[in-house]
Amino acid sequence: MEFEYRAHETCGLRLNANESSLTPSSEVMETFQSLLAFAELNRYPDDDAFELRQAFAQYYGLNPEQVIAGNGSDALLQLMITAFCRDGKTLVMLSPDFGMYRFYTGCIQSQTAEFATDWNGEFDDDAFVQFAEDHNAGLVLISNPNNPTGHLLSADRVRKLAKALDPVILAMDEAYMNFSDQSMLHEVDQIPNLIVTQTLSKAWGAAGMRCGFLYVSKPIIEKLLPYKIVYSVSTLDQLAARAVLAHPQIMEENVKRISEEKKRIQKEIEAIGAYELGEMAANFYSLRMPEGGLSALEQAFAENGIVIRDYPDHSRIRITIGLPEENDRVLDVLKEFAQKGGEAHA
Ligand code: PMP
Repeated sequence: MEFEYRAHETCGLRLNANESSLTPSSEVMETFQSLLAFAELNRYPDDDAFELRQAFAQYYGLNPEQVIAGNGSDALLQLMITAFCRDGKTLVMLSPDFGMYRFYTGCIQSQTAEFATDWNGEFDDDAFVQFAEDHNAGLVLISNPNNPTGHLLSADRVRKLAKALDPVILAMDEAYMNFSDQSMLHEVDQIPNLIVTQTLSKAWGAAGMRCGFLYVSKPIIEKLLPYKIVYSVSTLDQLAARAVLAHPQIMEENVKRISEEKKRIQKEIEAIGAYELGEMAANFYSLRMPEGGLSALEQAFAENGIVIRDYPDHSRIRITIGLPEENDRVLDVLKEFAQKGGEAHA
């Protein structure tokens, strides 16, 4: 099978899926409960997710009519791929990038065309645009910041890429953009072939409730809606998501906390000296051991009950930034491993 989905681990210290380690705040839970009191769970959900779209649009200062809410941004990635990558049109993506792009393209028996980049995320824009043309792109989809490299493409480069790719649609998957604050959401009205997706799963700390958003011009919305699954965001998800969006200061504090931890982790890893640290534009970091020894390092994490994500083809691992005490546990493993010269426990 060309495409495959690896389900997430459910035990140990889970730093493999870039979720938030914080459980929902009492403020969010109280708002959720008060919304729940009026929920008509005997009825189908509001398929239009009107109030939810409004809540998202209000926080970011957007037009709610240009928002689609989805069952996680994953559902919106699938929606775009289903709508635009049919009839011989490919999904053009970078490699490395988010693996689910490949999965959803495989689900409709369509093809990805993958443009290889260095782990530092650099690539030649002209060559990429030519690549998209050569591969009959129906959609170009890029995560920014990139998962797994942690690289951030500048807004200026995104603008230029969109212009060069036009009329092919460029979708920017901004699942991690709250950590970098450089969103293209406000440029959608000026760039007709641009789509932006975001999620409540990362900075907003709500991966379990499955809610993502897509923002685009009205003509493109009309092309997407015929492929949207009916009632795909449940009433419970809509209410929980509205409760999360009602308390943006909690997300903002979370972003601040991650940003402080980032600086500390960077300093400590540089002091250890044994690892090559990737960019940190999101809520995770990647590590490479220049002299190899990756599987022994993975074993050391497993022995300490810490779940991380590996990229064997790139000799890298990716680790989510958790709570300070969780990050300490990771740093302890990294220090001990480096002191032992790169060997796991006997
Ligand atoms: N895009 C990227 C780049 C991701 O890393 C993820 C989750 N790992 C998603 C989208 C999907 O997030 P969700 O479906 O939870 O919104």
